[in-house]
Amino acid sequence: MDPDAQAQIQELKRRLEELTVQAERNESILKRTLVRELSLLRADSLQQLLRAMVSDLRESYALDAVSVVLLDPQHEVRHLLLSGNDRPDEFRQVVFVDSLIGLAPQLAGLHRPWLGPFIGADHQLMFAGATGLKSVALLPLPRKERVIGALCFGSSDAERFTRHHGSDFLQHLGALAAVCLENAVNRTRLLRAGITDFLTGWHNRRYLQQRLKEELARAQRRGGAVSCLMIDIDRFKSINDGHGHLAGDVALKEIAHRVETQIRSMDTAARFGGDEFAILLPDAAAEDAAKLAERIREVIAAVPFALTPQVERRVTVSVGVAAVQPGRHETDLKALADRLLADADAALYRAKALGRDRVQVGS
Ligand code: GH3
Ligand code: MG
Repeated sequence: MDPDAQAQIQELKRRLEELTVQAERNESILKRTLVRELSLLRADSLQQLLRAMVSDLRESYALDAVSVVLLDPQHEVRHLLLSGNDRPDEFRQVVFVDSLIGLAPQLAGLHRPWLGPFIGADHQLMFAGATGLKSVALLPLPRKERVIGALCFGSSDAERFTRHHGSDFLQHLGALAAVCLENAVNRTRLLRAGITDFLTGWHNRRYLQQRLKEELARAQRRGGAVSCLMIDIDRFKSINDGHGHLAGDVALKEIAHRVETQIRSMDTAARFGGDEFAILLPDAAAEDAAKLAERIREVIAAVPFALTPQVERRVTVSVGVAAVQPGRHETDLKALADRLLADADAALYRAKALGRDRVQVGS
């Protein structure tokens, strides 16, 4: 064979081998990317998703630091994530900001992943305390026309992320993470709405009833009482009728606010119905609960409410108090919970019948 043709065949074979190796490498990257994306898609709460973004990705990419920067100007995501969480420092790798420009001007206009050297002045704040980083990849989290944050990868290897690396897979990962985040926030918001009263921000009746069962079980294990206050605004209808529904809402919020100044962090306050509030006091006997009830009554009656800029009005409440101490052998905690609420309600009814603006303790 002509030596030229032979050389050409050799060259083509070499090219083919190169392409095969590259195709295999791409397939393996694609597979790993799919596994990473699945871990984000599987997360079924905001907490789990952020854990997957921060910990799973760091492990799977063998990185030295991963953080998530999130735009949260209303502090809503922070509240959704942190309220009810016992370990607030678990999410230190999630950096919440009121504006992206404030943290790093580079992030605000980021529409494709940025790969390059770690520059302390530009990147330190994004990585929340990580040290020894040499190169970074900043993946924008795009939602509709906006960037809602960034997924930040850091490596101590200067060659790990450079502008010569391809970034299509990372771009896709960022886009997917952003959709997952939006979904998780919406889901958490809905779940929370199911147990929260919109007007006061307090828990609602459903949550209180659930919580009451848990507290009774705890009291049974440890020995001790659980008390309940049932608080109802006196002649609340006359506020609505005389000054309007909005003035009524102001009164409800002000009551919630004044009650909050009196209770302990371990107590559970809930809006039980229209103008009725319930407070659950773990580890409190009837006398302690009655004292608290009296303080609440006083703090509400003592200072008139500013219902509108023009209208100040004295508002009073009646309070019913009850307590139970679950015995060791009590099996029906649900019945006990119902009895506690019914006793507090009966005491409240007596307080109303005796002339309102007073506290009554149940049997
Ligand atoms: P009492 O002293 O016997 O409790 O008299 P009351 O006027 O307070 O009577 P009642 O407790 O039956 O009245 C509750 C009223 O609360 C009736 C309802 O229209 C009103 N209400 C319920 N939810 C809301 C709310 O979210 N906002 C406002 N403004 N009013 C509400
Ligand atoms: Mg009332």
